[in-house]
Amino acid sequence: MPEELNPFKIAQSQLDEAAKMLGLDETTHEILRWPRREFRFTIPVRMDNGKVKVFHGYRVQYNDARGPNKGGIRWHPDETIDTVRALAAWMTWKTAVVDIPLGGSKGGVTCNPKEMSEGEKERLARGWMRQIYFRLGEYKDVPAPDVYTTPQIMSWMMDEYEVIAGRHHPAIITGKPLELGGSLGRGDATARGGIFTVREACKLLNIDPSKATYAIQGFGNAGQFAATLHKELLNGGKLVAASDSRGGVYNPDGIDPHALVKHKLETGQVAGFPGTKPISNEDLLELDVDILYPAALENVITEKNAEKIKAKISCELANGPTTPAADKILYKNGVHVIPDFLANAGGVTVSYFEQVQGTYQYWWTIEKVHNELDAKMTKAYHAVYDMHKEKNIDMRSAAYLVAVQRVVDAMKLRGWV
Ligand code: NAD
Repeated sequence: MPEELNPFKIAQSQLDEAAKMLGLDETTHEILRWPRREFRFTIPVRMDNGKVKVFHGYRVQYNDARGPNKGGIRWHPDETIDTVRALAAWMTWKTAVVDIPLGGSKGGVTCNPKEMSEGEKERLARGWMRQIYFRLGEYKDVPAPDVYTTPQIMSWMMDEYEVIAGRHHPAIITGKPLELGGSLGRGDATARGGIFTVREACKLLNIDPSKATYAIQGFGNAGQFAATLHKELLNGGKLVAASDSRGGVYNPDGIDPHALVKHKLETGQVAGFPGTKPISNEDLLELDVDILYPAALENVITEKNAEKIKAKISCELANGPTTPAADKILYKNGVHVIPDFLANAGGVTVSYFEQVQGTYQYWWTIEKVHNELDAKMTKAYHAVYDMHKEKNIDMRSAAYLVAVQRVVDAMKLRGWV
């Protein structure tokens, strides 16, 4: 039977395993297997050529037992309702594992923003908000940026929301520019949070991160900051490879991450960076490095290539990069996986800080944001690591046990089950 790659089926099967280990009753398990609410809608947008194009938009609110829903919006040509459902489920476990008082949701639009003008993007952003305004709000559901959406897109969406509401709502959306109530430290929060977990893992696994080699698949927001912050926060380390959708670059002697980021921003790709050899996205994953950062898309580590993964730590900045079959192989081979919804929880954690600051309209210093993030991520990593050791299970299962139990506790206290 071919391996299941539907992300929602994968999310459900991961939950099923956790439910079994936690001994959840059938009703509780059934509630957790499905989104509590989901919305699909069409967004007609007048394009620059004068014609109206119809886009498909989504918002899935998975579970809000622990607090208002929270989740990003992805604009991607391959976006489907099942991707959004899976990501909304993972948001629920993510907010629970870092213990912030929020639920999980996700949104998306099937589109290719690379082919759209700024005006077309603005009209799409406003159209998306008009369709789902009634189910969003700081005490209902708060969106944020994700793949191919930006602080500018968040600004248009917030403006549209406020125009409809007839008042300000500084906490309705996060990932906003600083001028409109964004939080300091949001830009690099996902990568920074991931690096904090790598720091803790290195201590426990006896790896010296200042001497470690690392490779990054996906050189967007998460990947670029991981490249530079690894060096900054872990006192060194050697970046040997990085890639994006147009291909990768490799140099076993090391690549200067700041120079590579500059090259990517100037040329739109990592390919062609001086002093490097080309490497495919597939080969990058199989490099003999200490730390691998999958930071692109889902399902890149599957049963086909899992045996060939040589990294000691896989810090999953991307959502869903490893399939369940691959997970088993990585565990058997001793690869320490820091699972996506723990590794990349720094973004939602600082988004939550932004929501808090927006609600009382008083903004924190960068030092406070970094310290609070470090405290949350460190505590979350150790809670998962302790569970992994206590039950003798892989890190993803351990993260599920910690997170699902917290959601179940909230559901019970509310009398849902
Ligand atoms: P982004 O759009 O900034 O970057 C995505 C990068 O992946 C780009 O460099 C793109 O070229 C590359 N890419 C696309 N297809 C690829 C392929 N087939 N092979 C290799 N590279 C490919 O997105 P981002 O915000 O950095 O998000 C990346 C991942 O991290 C996603 O899975 C996202 O859900 C996850 N994530 C991001 C955040 C955040 O705050 N940015 C938070 C949580 C999770």
